[in-house]
Amino acid sequence: MLRDPVRDLADTADHEAAHAVAFVHYGARILAIDIARPEQGVGGHVKCAPEPRLSDLQQCVVSRIGGLAAGQDWLGVECATDREKVWLLCPARFSLKEDVWTAIITLRAQALLDQPDFRRAVKALGRALLDRPHKALEGPVAHEIIAAAISAGFDW
Ligand SMILES: [Zn+2]
Repeated sequence: MLRDPVRDLADTADHEAAHAVAFVHYGARILAIDIARPEQGVGGHVKCAPEPRLSDLQQCVVSRIGGLAAGQDWLGVECATDREKVWLLCPARFSLKEDVWTAIITLRAQALLDQPDFRRAVKALGRALLDRPHKALEGPVAHEIIAAAISAGFDW
């Protein structure tokens, strides 16, 4: 099947937006987000402040949620970097059962996405990334968009 570059960019926007909203959900501070680095074989990047450090579980949920939000195949190329991170942080007791660990992480990520305010923030941030000429957002702007999307909601 032929790939649609516009659709791909929209998926990448949702993917990176979901990483960012999950980071914020866990108390991290976003420094920058972009969806404009096709030359590196990855769709985009979310840069966070080094502190506070997320737990391994939180980092895994952040990694897993990008592909989940965009409806991308977890075993596909779009999720390769995220998949490596999740498997790297797989606790020793699960180490022979990466599929079990991945299932736990996926349930956690899906639970976040099922929250209407979380989903709304992802959509708003993804839309904003697509609308920017350079397909990038500064951290403070991203935080504003997320906060506005959450406070605009009345269905939780
Ligand atoms: Zn990702």
